[in-house]
Amino acid sequence: MANVADTKLYDILGVPPGATDNELKKAYRKLAKEYHPDKNPNAGDKFKEISFAYEVLSNPEKRELYDRYGEQGLREGSGGSGGMDDIFSHIFGGGLFSFMGSQSRSRNGRRRGEDMMHPLKVSLEDLYNGKTTKLQLSKNVLCSSCNGQGGKSGAVQKCSACRGRGVRIMIRQLAPGMVQQMQSVCSDCNGEGEVINEKDRCKKCEGKKVIKEVKILEVHVDKGMKHGQRITFTGEADQAPGVEPGDIVLLLQEKENEVFQREGNDLHMTHKIGLVEALCGFQFTFKHLDGRQIVVKYPPGKVIEPGCVRVVRGEGMPQYRNPFEKGDLYIKFDVQFPENNWISPEKLSELEDLLPSRPEVPTVIGDTEEVDLQEFDNTRGSGGGQRREAYNDSSDEESTHHGPGVQCAHQ
Ligand SMILES: [Zn+2]
Ligand SMILES: [Zn+2]
Repeated sequence: MANVADTKLYDILGVPPGATDNELKKAYRKLAKEYHPDKNPNAGDKFKEISFAYEVLSNPEKRELYDRYGEQGLREGSGGSGGMDDIFSHIFGGGLFSFMGSQSRSRNGRRRGEDMMHPLKVSLEDLYNGKTTKLQLSKNVLCSSCNGQGGKSGAVQKCSACRGRGVRIMIRQLAPGMVQQMQSVCSDCNGEGEVINEKDRCKKCEGKKVIKEVKILEVHVDKGMKHGQRITFTGEADQAPGVEPGDIVLLLQEKENEVFQREGNDLHMTHKIGLVEALCGFQFTFKHLDGRQIVVKYPPGKVIEPGCVRVVRGEGMPQYRNPFEKGDLYIKFDVQFPENNWISPEKLSELEDLLPSRPEVPTVIGDTEEVDLQEFDNTRGSGGGQRREAYNDSSDEESTHHGPGVQCAHQ
């Protein structure tokens, strides 16, 4: 979409797009007289439009921009100065700019190509240790043999069929006073706005002005970088004549890790221990993201409750750009209890003597009823089978009767 056909400014002055400077000047003088605020105080907007249109079209650079790229070219050429916006939206409406603006803002007034975004998957190890990796990609670069001209100098001609605008506009009268304006891509130049004679075409790029080139980028993934962070290679995207190349942007995608979950600069892991370790202390080893073997000790006498979390300060992720500072490592303990009947009744009473003593059972006065505690599978949902048997003919079987379920205290 190199060319946007936009003739509005010519329309305002009532001249055809190919008008000479002289014709422009004449038209402007005539209209300016007619709509000058002194003479015609109600036509203030019209006068502004006329002045603006003439200001653009009488300036060869601005006119070229407008002819080639329409409103968008002007907006970018103007550097988006504040006062211009009002007259822009007055003449062109707000829609086009907000729609196109983001892809091609320029740094120095030149039109700017699109950025190329690539995801880059990285492991947590890479983000911990940092990594340099090479990325191969294919991109358009200006043809070196014709300097992006497409042929010998002078071989490139403005397309006469569309006056270099790439599109042709046809006006058809549907009924008196009613015209239809149709715009189509120019078939002579395929919308390029220019033509090159076959014999004058550059051999290397076949007149395309650009050639594909394989480029290898060296990507530095720094310690502590995060999921969603961008690494930008300024101006490395596709090249095209007259266009400032956009950036190549790599978007980091952190892969899941089997052991660690990351939360900012902190790491989280779960470790299973047995009941004896929970009560009598323990020691275990794990391999950190940089390969170090880390020994974790917990002294006898200190108790780990099921599901509790302990922290190791300074063993989380390194901070981005300050890698000697690290986050913390949180270890959640999953305490594995022994199976049913894991010990003989005699040994059990020996164990009971060692464990903290039972709470005293208060004496109950009056009638009591004894119930059974049964195994309950949490994954099957509460209020299940037993009830359904009891109320077999119930019509609202699907609605769940959630009773106060009996659940295992530890899970
Ligand atoms: Zn070439
Ligand atoms: Zn053409």
